Amino acid sequence: MTTAVKATNVHWHEGDLTRAERFGALKSRGATLWFTGLSASGKSTIAAALEQVLVTRGVHCYRLDGDNIRMGLNKNLGFSAEDRAENIRRIGEVAKLFADAGVVALTSFISPYRKDRDLCRDLHAKATGGALPFLEVFVDTPIGVCEQRDPKGLYKKARAGQIKGFTGIDDPYEAPENPELVLRPATMSVADSVAACLRLLESRGILG
Ligand code: ADP
Repeated sequence: MTTAVKATNVHWHEGDLTRAERFGALKSRGATLWFTGLSASGKSTIAAALEQVLVTRGVHCYRLDGDNIRMGLNKNLGFSAEDRAENIRRIGEVAKLFADAGVVALTSFISPYRKDRDLCRDLHAKATGGALPFLEVFVDTPIGVCEQRDPKGLYKKARAGQIKGFTGIDDPYEAPENPELVLRPATMSVADSVAACLRLLESRGILG
């Protein structure tokens, strides 16, 4: 789906401040760490634990989380393929703005469709002022484990036919083909996953 453009005669307002000046003065480097995986795979748990460590280390970071965004910015969107695509596009745009501002944006959304995630990657690659890092983190938890955990009782409802189009049950999850990082919470502790994320950020020069 291509997003209808309704705003005409709009031009990006370029300030005088460069990305390098901003990041240099703030002593921070913006980036997006994009967590993707099945519901209950552990995205939010890991992102929240990582946020805690990063903030404690003085890294300016901010978590964008599925339910929270759906209660505000995206409350007019449902779970049809079209709405899911728009949900992810908006989050991709917001994460890009956070990254441009010098913040490490941690996004935790199922984001089941490859083309929607690729669009967000592309938004970062083509950011005004130069490409911003977009690091895809695949939280690879088998559906059986997710279903057993089921912290919000959603799988139970989906199995009972009370939720239609639930990812992994009657809607597909398209696993990333070339993620920057794969986490396996079925065999990794939350601390192990956080450490792996920190190593990734360090290897990309995002942490000072
Ligand atoms: P998601 O954001 O992917 O929907 P959540 O983080 O909300 O997933 O839920 C994952 C559930 O799995 C939480 O209840 C969490 O405590 C539990 N869990 C158990 N072990 C792990 C682990 N090693 N890593 C991440 N989550 C775990």
